[in-house]
Amino acid sequence: MVRIRGLTKSYHGKPVLQDIDLDVAAGSVMCIIGPSGSGKSTLLACINHLERIDGGRLWVGGELVGYREQGGKLHELPERQIARMRQRIGMVFQHFNLFPHMTALQNIMEAPVQVLRLPPEQARARAMQLLDRVGLAGKHGRHPAQLSGGEQQRVAIARALAMEPRLMLFDEPTSALDPELVGEVLAVMKDLARSGMTMVVVTHELAFAREVGDALTFMDGGRVVERGAPRAVLADPREARTREFLSRVL
Ligand code: ATP
Ligand code: MG
Repeated sequence: MVRIRGLTKSYHGKPVLQDIDLDVAAGSVMCIIGPSGSGKSTLLACINHLERIDGGRLWVGGELVGYREQGGKLHELPERQIARMRQRIGMVFQHFNLFPHMTALQNIMEAPVQVLRLPPEQARARAMQLLDRVGLAGKHGRHPAQLSGGEQQRVAIARALAMEPRLMLFDEPTSALDPELVGEVLAVMKDLARSGMTMVVVTHELAFAREVGDALTFMDGGRVVERGAPRAVLADPREARTREFLSRVL
């Protein structure tokens, strides 16, 4: 579903991603861990094409989104095709980013109605189903301020799912939550993984990575330092940097 070869990305001449290779098979869950500033969010932004890559090759869903040969010109899909591709990628952030003036239901209906031009009744029915799926059936009329952080994040997941994504990107979805609310969000994500969704999850929840992840990537300093089966990487990392990082977060 996602294939990255030799991806590089700089901000103002400062490299933040260097020579990244990454493969995310359809229906699998890739977890990404790494210290602050290691480039995890930037990598997600590149997959989503919210950030332009500087070099390397990026495929999403079998389509070559962008590439640049050594020293050559950057080739990209036309903007319209990129926009269409992005519609099929769901993104969930640390800070929920719900529309504060809309109810949970309206938040979920918004993009299907505005972007996909779904008839409102149909979008509403889909939204109600999704609210049920994330365990919030009775709370469709609440505004974000009337929901707990865990509930807001579950609405955010439902909102992303309403666009029927083929790929879901999560950027530290539980980092802003009180500890007692983390479990309910992880449970929804685990469910989603079980349903066969392709997911890339940046997270510090190592137990989730171990249990739900099919693969684990450790990034540091803009590079992939180590990757492998989550159990193997977490229990017996090959690289000293991975070991050092794990000893700090465990
Ligand atoms: P965190 O765990 O803190 O979220 P991260 O691994 O997600 O960190 P990124 O946010 O991808 O790291 O940042 C990687 C590097 O790129 C950092 O040095 C950051 O300061 C820099 N950076 C990120 N976004 C921008 C930007 N828009 N402009 C300039 N520099 C940026
Ligand atoms: Mg980040």
